[in-house]
Amino acid sequence: MIEAVFLDIDGVLTDGAVYVDAAGHEIKRISFEDIDAVFELKRAGIKIGFITGEANGFCRYVRERFAPDFFLEGCKDKLGAFKLLMRKAGLDESKVCYVGDSKKDVELLRYVASSFVPADVDPGVKDSAKFVLKAGRGKGVIKEVAGHVLKPRAQRRKPPRAT
Ligand SMILES: [Mg+2]
Repeated sequence: MIEAVFLDIDGVLTDGAVYVDAAGHEIKRISFEDIDAVFELKRAGIKIGFITGEANGFCRYVRERFAPDFFLEGCKDKLGAFKLLMRKAGLDESKVCYVGDSKKDVELLRYVASSFVPADVDPGVKDSAKFVLKAGRGKGVIKEVAGHVLKPRAQRRKPPRAT
């Protein structure tokens, strides 16, 4: 049973694109269903972590918006940072999952027993994950992952059938 969900930001929480307005400001897009899914996971007692190579204003927004249990930004070595965090936080590696979308995630996707990629990633990245989702980047990825993570819990809560 999964106890913590780790997420990349660009291409997982967002669609991986940068939108630029007329004044030259960069904007990113997150779907509401993914925002809801993060909070649904939190309400179910699942810990949330973000692991990103970026360190910018958008990262700050994500950190404040979701108040995740773990937040690793500016990670050039995601696998190394992940292993260190597992040790420091005393988490069981077999009970966490990771969702990533790019070459920078390949090592970690391979390492984690339960790893997911969106449907629209490069073949090399796809091959490194245990599960390929139906959702494309930024289009319900976290919602779909939440479904996988929460399903075994919902089944366990069902009362035993009367005989
Ligand atoms: Mg990414």
